[in-house]
Amino acid sequence: MSIADNIRSLKKETGDLNVKLLAVSKTKPATELKEAYDAGQRLFGENMVQELVEKQEQLPADIEWHLIGHLQSNKVKYIAPFISMIQSVDSIKLLQEINKHALKNNRTIDCLLQIYIADEETKFGLGFDEAIELLRGDEFKALTNVRIRGLMGIATNTDNEKQVKEEYYELKTFFDGIKTSFFRKDDLFDTLSMGMSADYKIAIEQGSNMVRLGSTIFGSRVVKHWKNN
Ligand SMILES: *Cc1c(COP(=O)(O)O)cnc(C)c1O
Repeated sequence: MSIADNIRSLKKETGDLNVKLLAVSKTKPATELKEAYDAGQRLFGENMVQELVEKQEQLPADIEWHLIGHLQSNKVKYIAPFISMIQSVDSIKLLQEINKHALKNNRTIDCLLQIYIADEETKFGLGFDEAIELLRGDEFKALTNVRIRGLMGIATNTDNEKQVKEEYYELKTFFDGIKTSFFRKDDLFDTLSMGMSADYKIAIEQGSNMVRLGSTIFGSRVVKHWKNN
C-alpha cells in the first residue's frame, strides 16, 4: 500500500474511534510527508529539532507539528515560533524554558507531560510522583504561556501484550486521576497520547485518544544520521 492509502485507511480507523492520528515522519524525506499531506494528513510528529525545523520550512503552513522526542532546553528557541505541541516535557526546567520562548513569541504553547511507564532504562519521562510534584509546585503555577494538554507515554518495546496493556492501563488511570485533581475545570486537558505502530490497537482499547504512527504509515526506517539533537 502507498503512503496515501495508509493515511486514508488509518484516518478512517482512528477517526471512527475519535482518536487523533499523528504521522511520525522522522528520518523520512519531505516528499513522503507531502504525499501524506496530499492524502489529508495535517498532524506530523518529529523527534529531532533540526530535522523538524528543516521540514517545517519546506512544507505547507497549515501542518500542525508535534515534537515527540527528548528536547534540550537550548533548542526550544528554534521551534517556539511555530510548534503546535511539545509532547515530551519531562522537567519543570524545560517547561520554564518553553514558557520563556512562548512569551517572546507572544503565544501559548501546548504541551504534554511525558510519563515514564516502560520497563526500560533508556526511556525519558517523569515518574508518576514527579509529575504530581511538578503540577503542585509554585514554579509551575507561575507559568503563563504554556498549557498542559495531557499526557504522553511510551510502553515497553516487547511482544508481551499483557505487559503493554497493563502499562497503558496504568497511564490511563493516572491521566484520569490527574484530570480530576488538577484540571477538573479545564476542558483543554484532554489529550492522552499513547500507542505506536506495534501497539496502537492495545493503546486505543485502553483509552488513548492520540496515536503516534511512523512505520505503519511510511514503512520501516533505516538507521538515522541526524546529529546534534
Ligand atoms: C518513532 C516514534 C514513534 C513511532 O514509531 P513507529 O513504531 O514507527 O510507529 C512514536 N512515538 C515516539 C515517541 C517515537 O519516537
